Amino acid sequence: MTKKVRVRFAPSPTGGLHIGGVRTVLYNYLFAKQHGGTFILRIEDTDQSRYVEGAEAYIFDCLDWCGLTPDESVMHGGDFAPYRQSERKDTYAKYAEQLVKNGFAYYAFDTPEELDEMRQKFKTHDNPSPQYNYEIRERMRNSLTLGEEEVQRLVSAGAPYVVRIKMPINEEIKFTDMIRGEVSFSSALVDDKVLLKADGMPTYHLAVVVDDHLMQISHAFRGEEWLPSAPVHILLWKYLFGLEQMPQWAHLPLILKPDGNGKLSKRDGDRLGFPVFAMDWTDPRTGDKATGFKETGFLPQAFVNMLAMMGWNDGTEQEIFTIDELVEKFSLERVHKSGAKFDYEKAKWYNHEWIKKLAVDRWQLAVKDDFAKRGIDISGDAKLKRVLELVKDRCSLLTDFYEQAKFFFEAPKTIDVDSIKGKWNEEKTAFFREWASSFDKVEWNAVTLEASFKERASSKNIKVGELMLPLRIMLVGGKFGPGVFDIAEVIGKSETQQRIEHALRLL
Ligand code: GLU
Repeated sequence: MTKKVRVRFAPSPTGGLHIGGVRTVLYNYLFAKQHGGTFILRIEDTDQSRYVEGAEAYIFDCLDWCGLTPDESVMHGGDFAPYRQSERKDTYAKYAEQLVKNGFAYYAFDTPEELDEMRQKFKTHDNPSPQYNYEIRERMRNSLTLGEEEVQRLVSAGAPYVVRIKMPINEEIKFTDMIRGEVSFSSALVDDKVLLKADGMPTYHLAVVVDDHLMQISHAFRGEEWLPSAPVHILLWKYLFGLEQMPQWAHLPLILKPDGNGKLSKRDGDRLGFPVFAMDWTDPRTGDKATGFKETGFLPQAFVNMLAMMGWNDGTEQEIFTIDELVEKFSLERVHKSGAKFDYEKAKWYNHEWIKKLAVDRWQLAVKDDFAKRGIDISGDAKLKRVLELVKDRCSLLTDFYEQAKFFFEAPKTIDVDSIKGKWNEEKTAFFREWASSFDKVEWNAVTLEASFKERASSKNIKVGELMLPLRIMLVGGKFGPGVFDIAEVIGKSETQQRIEHALRLL
């Protein structure tokens, strides 16, 4: 019987959500939806020293913004609750005990000082940071070296101990990754990872395997940075539940720095001026801030589309996909093995395409909020909509609208008269004064305004071409913006008159 598809995203609440994390969410989500399966979000917070206040709520906010809602989670409930590992603490110890009993794990009593001493003592030029492994464990204080009586004595005396996996000395550990194919490791290269800590909390390695089992996970997708942990997880599966129960693994390619030189980090974003996190994040411990794609002005549809394409394509030239199309077309077989370089210009291109593709109503509010944040409160939604239609071709980010459209809502603070001064003359002044005072006689729309402008120019024998730029500068302040008569129509009669008069005085 094939297992029902159940996949999970298992973040540790340690900080902001990197785009690599969101892509893992997305691939999980797409796979689950495609197979009529279930997408679970499990909070892996067993490392209390790395716990960061607010990070969990932030992860849910990010997923909410992206529209990638889990079916089961601490927020959404489900039959396999609790979905927070710290609340499952009592679940794990018995599995650690079972491993010890069957000879696959052991108690280790070494103090932090003894571990330090070991690292100093066995350090060599070739091995600068020796690990607790099959060679070293013979010389340490653990249940393999101490003898049963001494172990009993220490345990009864309440001496702190951890449980470590006993890695086989020389075994080839293999599995088939859905993206990479056959992957194999030599057990000799992996250290005896701690499974259960002295305070009874499991480490990630034990918790991830136990929970994937108890939550009946069928497929486990995670970043390639977790590949080195796979041999430990595979052995735990083998020792505890049997390999045939193990989920199918897919290790997703890394998202790389723009130059391809290593994994993309928050620092790269700071250095090169682009976001790396999904949403703004402030680390409560350090006050360190990171900007998000959302606040930078990305549409969630564009963000998700771009992430899907970082490491996957459908084999055609198509680049713009809705979430429904992605659910239909996504396949792990077409996920690339090698890392995907992050290209910010391309990310903006996706956003621009989505700004053009989506109805203005879908994102109008976000632009309105951005204007409000920068001191322009917009009351009329109909006017805003018209403005956004007029300038959207010029904007890649929702935050670009402010510069491209603020002159629709307030008179420009500076007027670039210098660029028209050189060719200015009294006739032109007269032309604009007369045209502006004729407004009462024209119907107020772009078409009739343009016609009256051109008529008057030809009756005055002035080339229209010499008047258009001045009109633009008068209304906009600079040499940009959409059709100038559209601008006049939207800002209205008296505002147009006032801006012309103001500029004429400067000239
Ligand atoms: N808790 C791990 C993380 O923070 C999960 C890795 C996995 O999916 O196994 O990414």
